[in-house]
Amino acid sequence: MKRLTVFLLTAILVLTSAAPIAAAESAKTYTNVILMIGDGMGENHLALAKQERGISLYMENNCDVRGYSKTRSVSNRVTDSAAGGTALATGVRTNNRYVASYFYDPLCWFSMPRTLAEAAKDSGRRSGVITTDRTDGATPSSFTVHTSDRDNSADISAQQAKSPLDLIWGGTVETFSAAEAEANGFTVVTTAQEMQALEPGSKSFAQFDVNTMWRTKVPEGSTSPTLSQMTEKAIDLLQNRNGFFLMVEGAHIDKHSHGSNDADNYDKKVSNAAQAVEEFDHAIEVAAEFAKQDGNTLVVVTADHETGGITLKDGKYVYTKTSHTNADVPVFVFGSKDLLAAGEHIENRQVARRIGKAMGLPAEAFPASMPGKITVYARKALPRLREGVDADSIQEVWALTRDLFRNLFPKKG
Ligand SMILES: [Zn+2]
Repeated sequence: MKRLTVFLLTAILVLTSAAPIAAAESAKTYTNVILMIGDGMGENHLALAKQERGISLYMENNCDVRGYSKTRSVSNRVTDSAAGGTALATGVRTNNRYVASYFYDPLCWFSMPRTLAEAAKDSGRRSGVITTDRTDGATPSSFTVHTSDRDNSADISAQQAKSPLDLIWGGTVETFSAAEAEANGFTVVTTAQEMQALEPGSKSFAQFDVNTMWRTKVPEGSTSPTLSQMTEKAIDLLQNRNGFFLMVEGAHIDKHSHGSNDADNYDKKVSNAAQAVEEFDHAIEVAAEFAKQDGNTLVVVTADHETGGITLKDGKYVYTKTSHTNADVPVFVFGSKDLLAAGEHIENRQVARRIGKAMGLPAEAFPASMPGKITVYARKALPRLREGVDADSIQEVWALTRDLFRNLFPKKG
């Protein structure tokens, strides 16, 4: 009986998926896109950074549009950086810990979503990912590999070494093999000096000091570049006639925001997080000023989630938590007024889809949202699709349907 119910629901699902899809039109196709992710950067991180550093922020003063992104994952109302990164990279939501893999197929047996970085490469553009985190961190991984868990470091490093992307830069990882990366054409660099010596058109993998890239100025003794220096050089290297895609992550906004709120750690935590926001803002300035000159570059700045539950208390912005929260996060757009409306709250996966569309990437890679009706049927058929989470695309419904059939009618022998 249960099987019959599932079968009927599946049939309804398939029939209804023929309904027309509404999609937002984007007016212009951009040659270059720079997507910048302030990991853990909520609205109040900006206020905290301004309060702590006595600065104003380039992103706030110079963006064309400012909106918001809703960050939940399939498995949890509070996302982690793997599911959050996956939504921003692929336009589909998944479970916490999953990296660019569907929640119903984490081992990628049947299917996996394309990432913006991969689809950009397919389109003939150059493509790269840079971060202040280790290269196997959840956010850079979400753009470069497909795996079932963010801690699959060996798998992530192996996939990255074989990656078709033009550059993958971040902090040192034990599982990374320079020999494997070099065999795939990557030049491996470990210092700012080596990075600056790279020539346009080269393919490069960077393993820098993970402790210093987030600072506004690297301390004496560190050979690493800062995030803004990395951003400038990466744009330099990626620029070409066919365009490029670059993801830039300021990972330490999140990392510092996880620190203890105990009195003996609190001031250091606030000062570090604020500095990480300031350096991320410097990187944004580099990207947005390039975009302004270029005229054909879209820059989108957002976060995967908020970390630390920063709130206004007695006239001061303070941390109330040491973990992620479900607060909506800011989205800043440079170079476009029609990617989103001012003040608009969009789902995190829509950020990727709208970028894909703005780059003229094929609709199969970044499909439009499901019609509402299918969401209801899909929810009934699949208990794991919880309240507030709809199926992501026609492709996803087809994949779900196919998987259901495979479960119902397994091949014999
Ligand atoms: Zn975090």
